[in-house]
Amino acid sequence: METNPIGVCELLVGLPDVNVLGVVDDAGAPIVLHVEQRSLRPECPACGRDAWLKDRPEVLLVDLPCFGRPARLVWRKHRWCCSVSSCPMGSWVGVDGRIAASRMGLTDRAGRWVTVQVGRHGRSVAEVADDLGCGWHAVNDAVIAYGAALVDDDPDRVGSPTALGLDETLFARQGPWRRQAWSTQIVDVDRGVLLDVVAGRDSSEPSRWLAGRSAAWRDQIRWATLDLSSSYRSVFDTMLPTAVQVADPFHVVRLANTTVDEARRRVQNETLGHRGRKTDPLYRSRRLLTMAEERISVDGHQRLRGLLEAGDPNGEVRMAWHAKEVVRQIYAHTDPDVAAAWVGDIGRDFCDPSMPIEVRRLGRTIKRWADQIIAWHQAHVSNGPTEAVNNLIKRVKRVAFGFRRFRNYRIRALLYAGKPNWDLLATITPH
Ligand SMILES: [Zn+2]
Repeated sequence: METNPIGVCELLVGLPDVNVLGVVDDAGAPIVLHVEQRSLRPECPACGRDAWLKDRPEVLLVDLPCFGRPARLVWRKHRWCCSVSSCPMGSWVGVDGRIAASRMGLTDRAGRWVTVQVGRHGRSVAEVADDLGCGWHAVNDAVIAYGAALVDDDPDRVGSPTALGLDETLFARQGPWRRQAWSTQIVDVDRGVLLDVVAGRDSSEPSRWLAGRSAAWRDQIRWATLDLSSSYRSVFDTMLPTAVQVADPFHVVRLANTTVDEARRRVQNETLGHRGRKTDPLYRSRRLLTMAEERISVDGHQRLRGLLEAGDPNGEVRMAWHAKEVVRQIYAHTDPDVAAAWVGDIGRDFCDPSMPIEVRRLGRTIKRWADQIIAWHQAHVSNGPTEAVNNLIKRVKRVAFGFRRFRNYRIRALLYAGKPNWDLLATITPH
């Protein structure tokens, strides 16, 4: 047991090689510890002569709460200068990354702690800042600096996937016009791990990212999953020419749901001359229409039939709804040949002139992507992982109320959905 008062104090403060100069304990305010490095006079890094102490700048840092109270650390630093006036070294300040990384408003231990809270547990920056009794920016800067090191300095994090997926995500609305800012997520579809996020949803950034991997890494990818986007198709055509392209079922079904929605809104407008209102039968049917048929109760079926009879005089919404269910059926087939025939039939039947315009458009898209849609039955890469990653990212965005800066979004998404090796957190150096 340590009984020497100085030793006890240093043990409680828990920082290596520091002298505790004092503690300020004002009621209602954070407890403030004053410390300095226990350092000997250094030599000049340039010429090796003695250094002189120039002055003692103080830095105020946010530390971890101490015995239930917010805490601050005042680090009384040493600014040294070379004793040789002609030496180009000038002056420098003593640093110790174990106390705090340079230009950081948090101590090192607080920085690592907030990274876990926000990055791993998905808490909001505001909430964690509240725990520490400090500002939002101090916490956010630390999460991004430590987080960037954790996701970018670990060469093993990306691993060697055999199935790779590209998927667009809206990460922010920017400026006075709330312009949509898009990004592309790159997913290991086998493991359901977010590998990276790049800016934009055209082909340039995903291609550049893939070009940054080794040829061997690209060669091992056998399956390339995508939504029905021609830019991602061109990424794979160019960068992964031997991988089999697979249309993600999640997106195919979502497109079919959008088709029902569009048909409903058009018919709504044509029959009533206005957009959906609460009492309109078609508007009231919108949830039931995009629900999977087998999940609708007997009552629900009856209600849907009634609403469509009231609001869909030519049966166009019903046809679109039926088309959606037919598209969903693609994935109920387990035999690749049967599925291929099914997709072929869709491409033909949906384009029939008797079909509503939205269904014909869906039919043309399915025809254009038939190979990729059918490939799913060979690949059997599940759509679960893409959806799982999407859900994780949605959570990150909800917690953060949208992101202003792409870099923040990328790091936060990777910390939460990119399965970083948290064991490395203790050893990384913040960026
Ligand atoms: Zn010098």
